[in-house]
Amino acid sequence: MNIALHIRALKESLPPQVRVVAVSKFHPIEQIREAYGAGQRLFGESRVQELVEKQRKLPVDIEWHFIGSLQRNKVKQIAPFVTLIHSLDSERLMREVEKQGAACGRVIACLLQVHIAEEETKSGFSPDECRQFLEEGSWKECSHLQIAGMMGMATYTDDREQVRREFRLLRELFQESKAKYFADDSAFRELSMGMSGDYPIAMEEGSSLIRLGTLIFGER
Ligand SMILES: *Cc1c(COP(=O)(O)O)cnc(C)c1O
Repeated sequence: MNIALHIRALKESLPPQVRVVAVSKFHPIEQIREAYGAGQRLFGESRVQELVEKQRKLPVDIEWHFIGSLQRNKVKQIAPFVTLIHSLDSERLMREVEKQGAACGRVIACLLQVHIAEEETKSGFSPDECRQFLEEGSWKECSHLQIAGMMGMATYTDDREQVRREFRLLRELFQESKAKYFADDSAFRELSMGMSGDYPIAMEEGSSLIRLGTLIFGER
C-alpha cells in the first residue's frame, strides 16, 4: 500500500468542499506518519485508548476525529484535544461531553449520528429520534458543545440505489434541521457520510466529510 500516493491521488480528485478523514484505526503510527508526510492532517479513530496513545505520539497539528461508539466514562480522556466527535447519539452522552468540555475550557464540536442503514447493528438516533432531540432543545443549554452537523453509515450492500436512498435521507434530514434550528449558525455545516466502499455516492448526495480507511491504508 503506497499511502502517500493514495493521499495525493485523492486530493487531486476531490472537489474542494469535501474533506477526507483518514481512518487510521488498527493501523500503526508509522503509517499515520506516512500519511502526515503526504500532507494529511485529519485522522479518525474509533477507540478511545488507541486514539489517546496515538495522539500522544504524533504531531500536535493533527486534527483528531472520534468516529466510533463512545462510552460516557471515556469522554474525559479525549475531551482535551478531540476536534470532532462524529457519534453523538444520546442526550446522556451530550451531557457528558458538555461537562468534560466545560472542565477543560473547550467547546467540543459533535455530529449527531443518525441510523440510516437497514442493519440493526449500526448505532445512532433514528431520524425521528433525531428530530425529537432537536425539538426538545436541551442542546441549546450546552455552551461547551457545538452541534456541527450529522453523520451516518449506509447499509453494506451492492445495491447502489439503496445506498443512495439512505444517504439522501440523511442529507434531507440535515437540510430540514439546518433550516429549522441552525439557519443562523454557520458552524452547523458538516455532513459526514461515505466510506471506502460508497464515498462516490455519498459525495453525489452532498457529503462534506468522507471517512476513508481501507482506501488509504489498505485492509485492517
Ligand atoms: C472503520 C470506519 C470507517 C472506514 O471504513 P473503510 O471502509 O475502511 O473506509 C468509516 N467510518 C466509520 C464509522 C468506521 O468505523
